[in-house]
Amino acid sequence: MPVELKGMPIGELESFLFSEGKERFRARQLSRWLYQRFADDFSGMTDLSKPFREKLSGGCTLTLPSCDLIEGSSDGTEKYLFRLEDGESVESVLIPEEGRTTLCVSSQVGCAMRCGFCATGAIGFKRNMTAAEIVNQVVFAGKRLKDANQCLTNVVFMGMGEPLENYDEVCRVLDILLSVYGFHLAGKRITVSTSGVVPRMLSLSERFPVSIAVSLNAANDDLRSELMPINRKYPLKELIGAMRQIPLHRGRKVTVEYVLLQGVNDSVSDARDLARLLRGIPVKVNLIPFNAHEFGDFVSPPRSVADAFRDVMVDAGMLAITRSRRGNDISAACGQLSAGQKESAGS
Ligand code: SAH
Ligand code: SF4
Repeated sequence: MPVELKGMPIGELESFLFSEGKERFRARQLSRWLYQRFADDFSGMTDLSKPFREKLSGGCTLTLPSCDLIEGSSDGTEKYLFRLEDGESVESVLIPEEGRTTLCVSSQVGCAMRCGFCATGAIGFKRNMTAAEIVNQVVFAGKRLKDANQCLTNVVFMGMGEPLENYDEVCRVLDILLSVYGFHLAGKRITVSTSGVVPRMLSLSERFPVSIAVSLNAANDDLRSELMPINRKYPLKELIGAMRQIPLHRGRKVTVEYVLLQGVNDSVSDARDLARLLRGIPVKVNLIPFNAHEFGDFVSPPRSVADAFRDVMVDAGMLAITRSRRGNDISAACGQLSAGQKESAGS
C-alpha cells in the first residue's frame, strides 16, 4: 500500500521521513509543497533531490482534490462539489467578504446526528472523511484563490458532518491549518462548529487554540432533544457547563449558533430563555435564518421577528447578530449541503 502523504501534519511527515532514513528537516520542505505551494506531483518539488523525489513517487501517493462542479452565486459565494475516490461526494462553500475570505468545509459524508432541520442530517451518515479529503478542500480553494492573487483567510467546519464525530482526522487537519509549515492560519481564524459532543468539545479546545461554535438552536431540553437528538446524550446542563469551561484563548468568545425556525424557537420568550441560559458566558450569538431545502418543511421567520429576537439578546448585554443569507440562490447556505444526494438517490 502506498503511503498517503496528503493529510499528514508536520510531525507525521517527520516520523515518516525518519523511518525512511531521511533528514527530518525535509519534512518542512515537503509540508510546504503540499500545503503552501499546492504541488500536483513529486517531480515539481525542486528543492528535493531527484533520487529522493523518485523514491517518494515510488512509495507514496499525493491525492489531489477532484472538483466536479463549481457553482457561483450572485453574491460572490462559490460552492464546490468534490468527488471522493469511492464515488461519494461532499461540498464546500467559499464566502468572500470585506476583508476576509472564508472556506466552509465538510468533515463527513452525510451526518449521523440527524438534526430535524438540516439537509445533511436527512441523508444520514455515510462515512468519515480522511484528513487528506478534508484538507484537499482547503488546498483546492487555496490554489484557486492564489491563481487569482487572493488568499484564504478563514476556515470554518460548518459544512457537511459533525466534525467532533470524526475527531482524529479533524485534529490532523487542524494541525496542518495552524502549522507554519502548513496553512499558517491563526487559531482565531479557524472555527469548529459542533452540535454539542461535550467531551470532545473540551478536549479539542484544550489541544488547539481554535474558536468553537456550538449549535444550540433551543433553550430548553424538550425542544432541543426534539430538534437535535444528540441533546438526549448531552443535555443542556452538560453542554452549557462545557461552554463555561472552554479555555477562551486571548479573550475570545464562544460562538452560539441558533437557527430561527418560525413558530418553533423564535418567540421573544424563547429569546429570554436563551439569554438566561447563556448569562455569564462570553458568547457571540449568531442568529441564522432557516435556509429552506428539499428535505424539510420548517420556515424562516420574517426579518422583524429575527430582529426582535436579536434585540432581546443585545438588551441582555450579549453580542448578537442576524447572519445574512449568503449563497442561498445556489443552495450553499448553512444546512443546505447535501452534495446532490437527491439526483444520485433517483438515479
Ligand atoms: N455539525 C456541525 C457543523 C455543521 S452544521 C453543527 O451542527 O454545528 C453548521 C450549522 O448549520 C449549524 O449551526 C446548524 O445548526 C446549521 N443549520 C443546519 N441546517 C440548517 C438550515 N436548514 N438552515 C440554517 N442553518 C442550518
Ligand atoms: Fe449534522 Fe450539524 Fe446537520 Fe446536525 S446540524 S445533522 S450535527 S451537520
